[in-house]
Amino acid sequence: MRYDWIWSCPYDDEGWKVWMEDQIGKVALQTVWEQKVKDCTRCELSKTRTQIVYGIGQTEQPDFLFIGEGPGADEDRLGEPFVGAAGKLFDKILAALKLEREDIYICNVVSCRPPGNRDPKHAELVACAPVWTSQIVAVRPRMIIALGKIAGNVLLGTRAEAVAKMRKKVHAWNKIPLQVTYHPAGMLRNENYKQPAWEDLLNAQGYVAQIKAKALDSGPLFGGE
Ligand code: SF4
Repeated sequence: MRYDWIWSCPYDDEGWKVWMEDQIGKVALQTVWEQKVKDCTRCELSKTRTQIVYGIGQTEQPDFLFIGEGPGADEDRLGEPFVGAAGKLFDKILAALKLEREDIYICNVVSCRPPGNRDPKHAELVACAPVWTSQIVAVRPRMIIALGKIAGNVLLGTRAEAVAKMRKKVHAWNKIPLQVTYHPAGMLRNENYKQPAWEDLLNAQGYVAQIKAKALDSGPLFGGE
């Protein structure tokens, strides 16, 4: 799949596209990490972070890429996304879906912790956009799941839509199906989010199953010997 959007990406002020062309999976991510991300000081969050929390998981076309808001205190300390109390709930949800962390890819719309867990500022979201976009392009998930209001709005290019509204349909991010749902941290704050989030994830699983079935259906028309 060719990602034409990246050629006109407004954030591509430092030639990120050069690293992404014709590269997929681990190789591309490793290159982007080494040459663009590991010493990143593109925004203010670099001054207060302990470490950058880059994405982890399955790098070769996973069914799902989950993208959240940003690292919290535990993630900042350990260097891994989705740990701590919200991470434990996330793992339980994955287990209920019969998924392991190794099956999926996880990242955030900002890769450094906002101090005091405040919302990321607009300038920080803009600065970090190449970090997550390059991960999505490299990993090529079948579906993106945006967790929470900030991630949902960033991927949809909106500012202040509620999750309750965004979750109502499957969107697309550069032709990749995109489902928005509640963040596990939000579910910990409000139990009422758990049931709709579960329904969203079950629907997403069904959606991906259909994509895979269609891909099989459209196999070689004149296959065989
Ligand atoms: S949040 Fe993103 S853009 Fe800002 S310093 Fe960290 S990696 Fe760089």
